[in-house]
Amino acid sequence: MKITNIETLCLSRPHERERQWFTLKYRTVKADCAIVVISTDEGLQGIGESCAYGVPTLIKEWVEFLAPSLVGRDPRQPELVPHPTGLKRAYDTAVGGIDSALWDLKGKIEGKRVSELLGGSTALTEVPVYASGGCRYDWRTHPEQLIEEVLGYSEAGYKAAKVRMGLEWSWDGVTIDRYLGLMAELMQAVDGRIQVMVDGNKRLNFDEALVITKGLDKLGLGWFEEPMPQEDIDGYARLNAAVDMPITGGESLTTVGQFRPYFEKKAYAIVQPDAGVCGISELVRIAEMAAHYKVDLNPHNWHNGLMTMANAHFVAATANSTMLEICQHQGPLQWEILAEKPVMQDGKLVLPDKPGLGVELAGGIAEKFPYIEGHYAIEIQRA
Ligand SMILES: [Mg+2]
Repeated sequence: MKITNIETLCLSRPHERERQWFTLKYRTVKADCAIVVISTDEGLQGIGESCAYGVPTLIKEWVEFLAPSLVGRDPRQPELVPHPTGLKRAYDTAVGGIDSALWDLKGKIEGKRVSELLGGSTALTEVPVYASGGCRYDWRTHPEQLIEEVLGYSEAGYKAAKVRMGLEWSWDGVTIDRYLGLMAELMQAVDGRIQVMVDGNKRLNFDEALVITKGLDKLGLGWFEEPMPQEDIDGYARLNAAVDMPITGGESLTTVGQFRPYFEKKAYAIVQPDAGVCGISELVRIAEMAAHYKVDLNPHNWHNGLMTMANAHFVAATANSTMLEICQHQGPLQWEILAEKPVMQDGKLVLPDKPGLGVELAGGIAEKFPYIEGHYAIEIQRA
């Protein structure tokens, strides 16, 4: 079998005003998607999603750059798979899409699920998932929307949810006490029905992070993700050592080499790389190193359904991977790219009983979701 063609589908869908989500100083105006399609001379196709944060048009350029080294080769040769570099996000996300598509293809060739290829007979067939959102509440007008939203996830069957910390605090005089007050109200409202985690989106300094982590821990939250800037490895090591609550991060890191100092310094209790950002093969390498340091790996998984399937198969196959993120703010693009949405029930995603990633693309998606040039977010102007 030989690879005959590799192409990238760039897709978008503008968010309606009520679907826009925001964090810190940015409001997101559209949903993006980049899908790598690998065709073969025997009619089988592999599909894989690259994380759209790599910018779909740049991802497409890098896939075109890499295609000549793959076309004409046998897709089963493992050495042909490019590795992420840790240097250029668009390149590494292109690798993520190609790598996921090759795993899909390999599964289809062997008649096995990707989870089975990765984990053998011990692979799970259902993966625990959590609702990831909490970026539509406005401190100025409706902070209580956060509580309604999380209650909605609980009613929809989710057992866990992750929320963010809202728009720039200085705009509305938000203090740590006011923030923890809202979180206390949230925890009282959910009353143990759903686990809650927080993503800090790298916005705090060490002193703020320490006080807030202790406050969140007291309220019974599940983990605190990326409270501080990524590069502050020593700060993360100090924070992780000082608190009982798991400190998590690493969603923008793409190589096992980049993760190494975080493991060595015990910076994170849980790491969160993403198949769409670095590929399934690199996730496996990072998970092996994580296991050596007794750290869990729960993938980052924002964006669309095909990337979700790549991450889901990895979680199903990996002992130190326990939960998968499901984005709640992506709109119809998220699942309508697929011919069939996988079943989610009782807080779990059921892997389809089909080879590869177990899903196919829906017809006509290039026409239905034409790519919209430009950045997915705009800076909010507010004093
Ligand atoms: Mg995050």
